[in-house]
Formats: sequence, structure tokens, C-alpha cells
Amino acid sequence: MKYYSLTNAANTANFSEAVIRGLAPDRGLYFPEKTSRLSKDFLSDLANKTTIEVGMEVMHPFVGGTIPDDRLEQIVSDTLCFDFPLVPLNEKSASLELFHGPTMAFKDVGARFMARCIGYFNEETPKKVTVLVATSGDTGGAVASGFLGIEGTEVIILYPKGKVSHIQELQLTTNGNNIRAIEVDGVFDDCQEMVKSAFIDEDLKEKLNLTSANSINVARWLPQSLYFFFAYQHLLRQDFNGKLVFSVPSGNFGNICAGIVANRLGLPVHHFIASTNTNDTVPRYLKTKNYQPNPSKQTISNAMDVGNPSNFIRIQSLFKNDFDALKTHFSSFSFDDTQTRLALKSLYNNSGYIADPHGAVGYLGLEKYMKAHPDTYGILLETAHPIKFRDTVEETLGITLEIPKQIQHILDKTPIKTSLKNYDDFKAYLLSQDI
Ligand SMILES: *Cc1c(COP(=O)(O)O)cnc(C)c1O
Repeated sequence: MKYYSLTNAANTANFSEAVIRGLAPDRGLYFPEKTSRLSKDFLSDLANKTTIEVGMEVMHPFVGGTIPDDRLEQIVSDTLCFDFPLVPLNEKSASLELFHGPTMAFKDVGARFMARCIGYFNEETPKKVTVLVATSGDTGGAVASGFLGIEGTEVIILYPKGKVSHIQELQLTTNGNNIRAIEVDGVFDDCQEMVKSAFIDEDLKEKLNLTSANSINVARWLPQSLYFFFAYQHLLRQDFNGKLVFSVPSGNFGNICAGIVANRLGLPVHHFIASTNTNDTVPRYLKTKNYQPNPSKQTISNAMDVGNPSNFIRIQSLFKNDFDALKTHFSSFSFDDTQTRLALKSLYNNSGYIADPHGAVGYLGLEKYMKAHPDTYGILLETAHPIKFRDTVEETLGITLEIPKQIQHILDKTPIKTSLKNYDDFKAYLLSQDI
């Protein structure tokens, strides 16, 4: 399997090159040249497959021979070492819980898969890979945990001082080993700028083998298509044969884009709903046919505070840039914080279900679509455990959440971090460290 750049299709790479580079040299996103249907036998026997078997079948073509089968199997089984339960909300909808991994965010799967692929690709090279990642909260924790202890890698996480939750900060700063955390005196955009500047800095390029671990990387993006297969397996085991729709809480639109890939691989999905908070660039585009990104706005579902979703161009490619085809299979709706809090309450009161604010946005999208299409069955992707957004959830529902074991064990650890002010500090830090 080859990947080509969405900026210039003449720029191609195999899987290992695409993973190590992150972005193509022309700054375009890599896109797989084929998303072909999986075999009939596999699809018709899906209900009887294990998660590892599904993981191997789906990821094998994408890896395209750059990792030997036995190693890939090890990577897939290390990645999928937790459950993906489907919890019914009522007769016509259910929540696919993606938060049972080590950092309780759905990004665990992509981060673990990517880390292990890089670990493998780097086995033969003496030079370490330095992974830079800017985070507004969830990504950094998942990347830190995914790369922890992976030979040949050093991870440097930049986060805005005082702007991530207490639990998120502990997840970033208590790992030790090959993970370093830097708090930046600024906002998320400042952290992102520092990472971008480092990538084009000749002095750093000479000394370090830099890569990035955000969702544009194909090794983080593509494994997310597995969730949609897992959801369908649950339904098949209950003799489901209805019209399936998915609602995905969306920020950079990587997760929902992976769902559309699953559909291209043969998974029968009737419709996709991208649910957003007030960062509504895509819902506005579907209404007006005019793509006008706005600066990001702060909301209570802050992992989706994205003004210009980087993966939307991949979704357009999957629909061959045909606006009408896109609109037939894909809807996107935006909801504000007041609606999100009401949805948290109604899920709790009507279904006894405690969602997090991102899941609540997903629920609103499902509800809106299904009102107009009552003959469908809806699955919402619950992307984070409510404890990650503890204050909002406890205050909205008037309850006290139990603290899960994944979180409990970091609460009494001491944060270790470096504080930096600007790019010059950051560069000096990178050059002075023994990385
Ligand atoms: C990252 C994230 C999202 C958004 O996912 P995208 O793939 O960027 O659309 C949604 N919910 C949570 C909790 C997240 O951490």
C-alpha cells in the first residue's frame, strides 16, 4: 500500500515513511491509495472474530508489508488490551465506550499503535526518535502513556500552563522514563507554534530526529476505524439487521473519518453524523457549501475546540470532493454548552447513563438525526470517561463520581515538569538535553 500527499499526489510514501515523516514533505496529509473492501468471508463471519483478528485484518493492508506479520500481531494485541463495550441507552440507541484504556480517552488506541510502530521502525537505527506533541489536554496523556518505555523514543509534551485539568496535568507529568513534560507560559496555540517552529529549525534538524504524534499521522488515524467494526460485532451478536448510524463527537474529524474508511472496507453503515460544539466550521460548510474556518472557541467539550479541522480534507477525498455525495452519507450538527449540559442531564435521568460533555454532544447529534429518520439504529461514540471532565459533570448532575483505578494511581504522584516561556527557551532546552 502506498500513501500519497493530498497536496500533490506525485509525492508518495510507504507506511513506514508516512509514519516517520508525519506530514508529506510538501506539508500535505498522507492518504492511502486504496481503501478496498475486505474479503466476503471475513465480513460475513465478523461476529465470530476476536478483536485481535479484526485488528490484524483491517490494519494489515495499511501497513503494506513494512512490519512482519508476527510483529504486527504483537503490536495489535498490545494496542487492543482493553474492552470496547456497547452500552444500550434505549431501544434504538447505544453508547460505544472507547474510554477503558490507560488514560481513559479514545486516543489511547491510536497513540499505542503509533508508538509501537515507531518503536519497530527504529530498532535498526541507532539514532533515537524525538516525538514532539503540543496538547490542550487529552492528546498529551494518551501519547505519553502510549510511548512510555518504548525503546528508541523520547517524548516531549508541551502544554499551556494552568489550562489543562488537574487530572490531565498529572497524566502528562508523572510518567518519567522517556517522557518529559513542558509547561508553556501561554495558550495551546503557542505550544503548537513552538512545535511547528522546531520542525523547520535547521539546527534542531541536524541534532535530532524529530517527529510529531498528532492525529494527522496515519498510524494514529487509521486504527480508529476498528471501533466501528467492534460496534458492529456487538450488534451482530444480538442478531441486528437494521439501518445503522454513528454519531461521533468531532474536533479534528480524525475519528469520524476513520469510520468512513471502515465503511469503504465493507462495514455496512447507513449514515455518519459529526457532532460538534460551537466550533461549527463543518456544519456551516454543509449548509452553505462555503468552507470558512473560524478561530477556535472555548467550550466545556474542550477536546473538540478546533476551528479548522485538519482531517476534513481526508473526508472530502473519501467522497471524491463531491459535495452532494458527501451530504447523502454525512451530516454535521453543532450544539452549545447549554444544550450539552441539558443532554448530560437527560441521559442521566432517562437512561441512568453518565456521559462526559463530548459524549453528550454526540448524543445531541444522534437525537437530532434520528428524529428525522426514526427507522434507524444509532450508536454514539463515547470518547472520554466522565472523570476527565469531573467538575462539569459533577456540577451539572449534582453527583460525586467514583474515581477509576487508572486515575487513582496517579493522584498521589509528584508532577515533574520544566517551565518555559518562548521558542528560544525551548530550542535551548532541546539542544542542551541529552536526548
Ligand atoms: C480528541 C477528542 C475528540 C475529537 O476527536 P477528533 O478525531 O479530533 O474529531 C473527541 N472527544 C474527546 C474526548 C477527545 O479527546
